[in-house]
Amino acid sequence: MKPSIAIIGAGLAGLTLARELSLHADITLFEKARGLGGRMSTRRNDTHQWDHGAQFFTARSSAFTALLTPFISDGTVVEWQPNITTLSPHKSPYKRPWFEPHYVAVPGMNRLLKAMAGNLNIQLSTRVEKVEQQHQHWRLLDEYDQLLGEYDWVISSAPLPQTQVLLPVEILGDNLERYGMLPCYALLLTVDDADLPTWDAAQVNDAPIRWVAFNHRLPGRNPQAGTVVVHSTPEWATAHLEDDQEVVKQQLLESFCSLSGVNAKAITQVQLHRWRYALSADVSEPDAEFVLNTQARLAACGDWCLGGRVEAAFTSAYQLAKVLQTKFLQTKL
Ligand SMILES: Cc1cc2nc3c(=O)[nH]c(=O)nc-3n(C[C@H](O)[C@H](O)[C@H](O)COP(=O)(O)OP(=O)(O)OC[C@H]3O[C@@H](n4cnc5c(N)ncnc54)[C@H](O)[C@@H]3O)c2cc1C
Repeated sequence: MKPSIAIIGAGLAGLTLARELSLHADITLFEKARGLGGRMSTRRNDTHQWDHGAQFFTARSSAFTALLTPFISDGTVVEWQPNITTLSPHKSPYKRPWFEPHYVAVPGMNRLLKAMAGNLNIQLSTRVEKVEQQHQHWRLLDEYDQLLGEYDWVISSAPLPQTQVLLPVEILGDNLERYGMLPCYALLLTVDDADLPTWDAAQVNDAPIRWVAFNHRLPGRNPQAGTVVVHSTPEWATAHLEDDQEVVKQQLLESFCSLSGVNAKAITQVQLHRWRYALSADVSEPDAEFVLNTQARLAACGDWCLGGRVEAAFTSAYQLAKVLQTKFLQTKL
């Protein structure tokens, strides 16, 4: 009989695992959000949309390139070739070239995850609150103490601080400080394209913000529905994490207007999103690509193991899946 596996989180890492293991195990994914995306989410209202997490991704490994190839062929993923500038309060802007292909999903970043989801068994709007052992199984409970199911294996693909709450410390280890995750604020604006500068995106230095993108100019978006995504630096977000969110919004808005030269009066909508666990520390020499305890039948993976990028999330999950595939095949023999 195939082992049953509960995967916590249906971001890129969770979906990668589920796809790679679906022939070898009965998989159920639990995702606390209403829709797919994780930190590759797209926020929409009736007229506009914003990619408020990951802005683009690169593909350096052959395994990630292989995953993307069919999605590039069918137009779900396309190369983004923006006119990028560099902004700073003290220096004149200069053009910043990219030296490798950068990709985005179309018409929004979360489209890649929707395309990957296929027929996988995904329980949306379901937060796993507790993972507890009973006899040979792991029981998953939600925030109302309702049983979500019993599984042979549990794998968490949630950001590290959320995984640490769920899985026993004996499994994860207690020396994970260097994998710490940092917050980021995303300011989401609506503004007429005619009121924006000619560049498409900017890397920002020496300011509370570090990145600006005119989101409607990405491939496959509605070029008439002008939208801006502004990301704070992790340091600034850490210092202002619990501040009054209206004040945070105003400060980031002022920083954006002063750096870009956009008139605040041209901006018709302002929203703020706080990513509490946005970016992983840069782990130059990771201990492992994932955490696995075969005796306990628990594992964890995600971008945080490998330094926090889209491709890192894929690689961590993919490498874990390869090890588990071999294990499940051996168990069958
Ligand atoms: C603002 C921002 C900008 C970024 N920019 C870039 C970029 O330009 N390029 C790049 O390569 N990367 C970027 N990243 C990083 C990139 O988004 C992540 O590395 C990648 O999306 C992580 O995927 P993941 O599957 O590991 O985690 P996630 O996408 O975080 O998926 C984990 C999932 O677990 C769910 N979850 C958590 N706890 C529970 C629970 N208890 N029960 C059920 N579900 C749960 C969450 O809702 C989430 O959907 C950015 C991230 C942010 C936030």
